Amino acid sequence: MPHPRLPAFSYLRPKTLKEAVGLLHKYGDQSRPFTGGTDCFNLVRDKRIHPKYLVDLKSIEGFREISYDQKKGLTIGATVTLNAMIDHAYVSKNYPVLVEAANEVGGYQLRNRATLVGNLCNASPCGDTIGPCLVYQARVQIIGPEGKRAVDLKDFFEGPGMTCLGKGEIVESISLPMPHPGAEGAYESIGRNKVGDLAIAAITVLGYEKKESPSGYDFLITLTAVAPTVIFADKAQDILRKQPLTQEMLEEAARLCAEACKPIDDIRGSAQYRRDMIQLLALRGLEKTCKHLKVPL
Ligand SMILES: Cc1cc2nc3c(=O)[nH]c(=O)nc-3n(C[C@H](O)[C@H](O)[C@H](O)COP(=O)(O)OP(=O)(O)OC[C@H]3O[C@@H](n4cnc5c(N)ncnc54)[C@H](O)[C@@H]3O)c2cc1C
Repeated sequence: MPHPRLPAFSYLRPKTLKEAVGLLHKYGDQSRPFTGGTDCFNLVRDKRIHPKYLVDLKSIEGFREISYDQKKGLTIGATVTLNAMIDHAYVSKNYPVLVEAANEVGGYQLRNRATLVGNLCNASPCGDTIGPCLVYQARVQIIGPEGKRAVDLKDFFEGPGMTCLGKGEIVESISLPMPHPGAEGAYESIGRNKVGDLAIAAITVLGYEKKESPSGYDFLITLTAVAPTVIFADKAQDILRKQPLTQEMLEEAARLCAEACKPIDDIRGSAQYRRDMIQLLALRGLEKTCKHLKVPL
């Protein structure tokens, strides 16, 4: 079956943020912003969205920048491609779990085009970079007709393909605070193949030493592709904080991760398979993280 052709639309390429916001405000629901376009054009082609105006954000000054500071952490502009982020020495040194997950997005050519911000704004429950950005406690900088605001990434997603962005609002950048000293983590995912398929299930783990925790550690764990949005595994995080860390405790935490899933059956995997994979990936991710943290299990 040949793919349907793209319907007609007007292509707009603003040079300034003010111009972009103005265009999106002026054309409202008839417009759509895009960065890499690797999701957006599929949505248009498949007639899941019907914008008359596609607003390309790639020429906006400053949007292509990665900036960092030992106190404030990292800021990634809206049009920074995944490959630019992956190749950035500061990002790979300090946020290795994000880089690990970004490397799972499609193939190399796609990552030359696709952006981190696009992956987050697409709000797919299987977006690979969402879990790592959540465990690194990212914040989203937003600009729109009413001015600027910032939200925690955990409050950004409202459902599959849905975010808290209002009419005419765009994401300017994502910021990640400095990770806790000595933090270690892992991104474990499974897809139908090793080259660019979306995750059937994935888990992100980030752990670090915390003297005040009864276990001596704190863990953040997110589950991908097993609920309408990427979710935190709260109960698993809790027992790993409260109980001494042993192999049995990691196994119990992995079981709690599987219990937290609300997966669906679809063409890429059954709900039961997804739940089983989450338990397996969680144990793998926790064991790796504990090994790197040198936890005596
Ligand atoms: C062949 C193929 C393989 C893929 N494999 C994977 C994979 O393995 N894992 C994975 O997670 N994804 C995958 N994807 C999906 C996609 O490539 C990623 O989600 C990518 O990161 C999207 O980035 P983008 O810059 O292209 O987004 P775009 O397509 O430009 O935008 C995505 C959505 O976000 C909105 N948007 C973009 N920028 C902004 C902004 N600044 N403010 C407000 N809204 C905005 C757009 O309107 C659109 O709805 C794949 C896609 C293809 C075509």
